[in-house]
Amino acid sequence: MGGRATGAPANLRAVDWALARFKEAGVEARKEAFQMPGLWLERSASASVRGLGVDFAPRIAAMPFSTATPKGGLTAPLLDAGKGSEKDFQALGEKAKGAFLLVDQAELKDVDGLFREYAESAEVEQRAFAAGVAGVVYVGSRPNNLLYRHNVSVGLRNTRPMVVMERDGALRAQRLLRAGKTLTLTAELDLQIGPAYESYNVIGEIRGSTRPDEVVVVGAHLDSWDLGTGALDNGANVVALIDVARQMKRLGLKPARTLRFALWNGEEQGMYGSAGYVKAHEAELDKHVMATSFDIGCGRINGFFTGGRPELPPLVDQALEPVKGLGPFTQVDAPIVGTDNFDFMMHGVPNLVANQEPALYGPNYHARSDELDKCDPQQLRLNTAIAGALAYGFAQMDAKLPRQSRAQVEALVHSTDLGQQMKSFNMYEDWATGKRGRKGGTTAGPETR
Ligand SMILES: [Zn+2]
Repeated sequence: MGGRATGAPANLRAVDWALARFKEAGVEARKEAFQMPGLWLERSASASVRGLGVDFAPRIAAMPFSTATPKGGLTAPLLDAGKGSEKDFQALGEKAKGAFLLVDQAELKDVDGLFREYAESAEVEQRAFAAGVAGVVYVGSRPNNLLYRHNVSVGLRNTRPMVVMERDGALRAQRLLRAGKTLTLTAELDLQIGPAYESYNVIGEIRGSTRPDEVVVVGAHLDSWDLGTGALDNGANVVALIDVARQMKRLGLKPARTLRFALWNGEEQGMYGSAGYVKAHEAELDKHVMATSFDIGCGRINGFFTGGRPELPPLVDQALEPVKGLGPFTQVDAPIVGTDNFDFMMHGVPNLVANQEPALYGPNYHARSDELDKCDPQQLRLNTAIAGALAYGFAQMDAKLPRQSRAQVEALVHSTDLGQQMKSFNMYEDWATGKRGRKGGTTAGPETR
């Protein structure tokens, strides 16, 4: 299929492909439409760095939600902004206005580094926009000049060209600037940008035999970014879930509750597919027993993030009992933002995210190198068994946690770092303005049911 950015033809082919795989396996499947707020795809991106005796063309990637440049590119002074700290911006002062700022970044090693990168760049961008920059140029955080995509923190509200520059070229420009050279950057970004449009989730369903109105959602996102082919993020988990459904059919398993295998779209742009599902199925959410997301590559599943609900980890332990030989499993009871559990969490539905050993996930994240050779097929099979046990366990168990009220979700936002995470991922405003998340009073009170 290739890279499957939402809105691209390859993504639509992936939707048809996934539907066909479910149907081949005898699993009832449908596509469900949802609204993407805008189209953003890169056609091409190029750059030139110039100064007295300097002329080179480092490779760049446009950041999703970057604006395009005029034909022939946009030229502006290129300034060294250090790491983009408050102090760095004070030192730049008025010069930042109308300039491209080259922002240094540490080399990315692992998933912790990735979360740090997201948090830091959100702050850097706030300062840069306030300073009236022409655009931000990140020193690529990956070795070997690997290019990758990294969303602009303000999403569709962004009004500037924003790019990631291959590491060695960017560090060369940085050295020249630090040696006192005056440089300009010409960035030419040819983008396909458009208004809101319809995209599709693919939902495979095995209807519950005794409690069909109660639903367990097992999800992974079908879309990817387009530089690589999105194997770690997230094709591997998509095929794992299709295989769970296929094996359940093959074995003739009849879960008590309804299992929905949700292949989300529009995840990379802001989890829009799962947001659309939650909106469309709002009336059924009290009957959603659990929603889990698999989205951290191909490394061993070593437990689940349980979202800050102490009652949930014991239920996960119980579900994983049949595969405990593939453990140990440790549940981390903290809320996680960055994948498709988000809107379920904000609607109070018990939600999980598979916690996976980093393996090769971090360095290849959203990068040209995110290809199938980074996945160990044996580990992928074992992870599939774990996903199967979890899904079946929640479909069978007697326990059912109630949906949290708006007040309870708010308490979670305020008592953990959830609010901060939401800001890093450009999710806070939609929540605060009521575009996303459960509606209802803001005062704490007993559950209504
Ligand atoms: Zn992902």
